[in-house]
Amino acid sequence: MITKSTTLPTEPAAIDAPSTPKLPIYLDNHATTPMDPRVLGEMLPYFGEKFGNAASHSHSFGWAADQAVETARQQIAKLIGANPGEIIFTSGATESDNLAIKGVAESCRSKGNHLITVTTEHKAVLDSCERLESQGFRVTYLSVQKDGLICLEDLKHAIDPGTILVTIMAANNEIGVIQPIEEIGAICRDRGVIFHSDATQAVGKIPIDVRRQNIDLLSISGHKMYGPKGIGALYVRKDPKLHIPAMIDGGGHEHGMRSGTLNVPGIVGLGKACAIAQEEMAQESQRIKALRERLRNSLTSALSNTYINGSLEHRLAGNLNVSFAGTDGESLMLSVNEVAVSSGSACSSAGTDSSHVLKAIGLSDELARSSIRFGLGRFTTEAEVDYVANRMIEAVQSLRELSPM
Ligand SMILES: *Cc1c(COP(=O)(O)O)cnc(C)c1O
Repeated sequence: MITKSTTLPTEPAAIDAPSTPKLPIYLDNHATTPMDPRVLGEMLPYFGEKFGNAASHSHSFGWAADQAVETARQQIAKLIGANPGEIIFTSGATESDNLAIKGVAESCRSKGNHLITVTTEHKAVLDSCERLESQGFRVTYLSVQKDGLICLEDLKHAIDPGTILVTIMAANNEIGVIQPIEEIGAICRDRGVIFHSDATQAVGKIPIDVRRQNIDLLSISGHKMYGPKGIGALYVRKDPKLHIPAMIDGGGHEHGMRSGTLNVPGIVGLGKACAIAQEEMAQESQRIKALRERLRNSLTSALSNTYINGSLEHRLAGNLNVSFAGTDGESLMLSVNEVAVSSGSACSSAGTDSSHVLKAIGLSDELARSSIRFGLGRFTTEAEVDYVANRMIEAVQSLRELSPM
């Protein structure tokens, strides 16, 4: 009989000491994810010998690149229940959001000038809407309930005869809350309004099916799902056909919706990332959720006045957003600086305002600034979670002793 010992790694684990994980620890997977080594492996040839331009139709270099792009298009489409011809490559979700929102505004201007979104959206969506407001469009910003979810009745009431677009994210990047996308899609379809969803945090983490969920436009980003940075996609529904006017004109690539020579290595990486997610998402989210719950239980059982922000039920497996009342998030991060997390006071690279998402769910500035976002992911281990829990508990206790409230 073959025993496990024949395949043991050469470094045996220490017997007594709880295994200390390698430092620093990365728990900021909503900001970006490390690239999966399998994704990198798939991409490498396209930086080297397979350098062809996917638009070169007259030789084998171009054909090989084009074939790789089409394979990726299939892998992406499959993950979200679309057809490959409905996938447009972009530089990331910021571009996809801009293209979708400004594109619909431009193409539907004769039908109406009203858009609906939510106060907790990503800046890529909010700032695009704001730009349109400055050009004469009307935008309704739906508020969210305490749990971070929108109220469907509010959405129904907000739709008027001039409404051309509803843009609501699938999962939030700060509090991980998952909106009722299928119900939103049904309402939009029923009222004849185009529905865009920024699904950057959702694709590859929870099941997305653009047909069943009646999604007309959907934004995807490579680097939030273990793929490379600087590549993304926009799903644009074809049946019935939706055409989005280009923001970048040129050679007419991507059905004229987004010109520019395709980023073949990035596209190959995004495709591979989708293929891996397709295979592993169900199991992976269970594993990550168990780790997230382990972290939550450790923190909340050791510390009083500690609050979880956003719905626990409708939430990404890897997200935990916690307010540690009586502490300051920035100071907490400084005292546990071997752990990479985010705080509710540093959510935009531009400012030090407290998070618009935490304020939208009703937190005071003070409580928002006391919060930490933990983002667990594919490569997070139990030892890491235990280490982080212990260090955070120590840090919160000593900060509270320093400044008793
Ligand atoms: C990261 C993120 C974006 C921006 O994606 P990029 O690919 O970095 O441009 C947009 N929306 C959400 C919800 C995100 O988390």
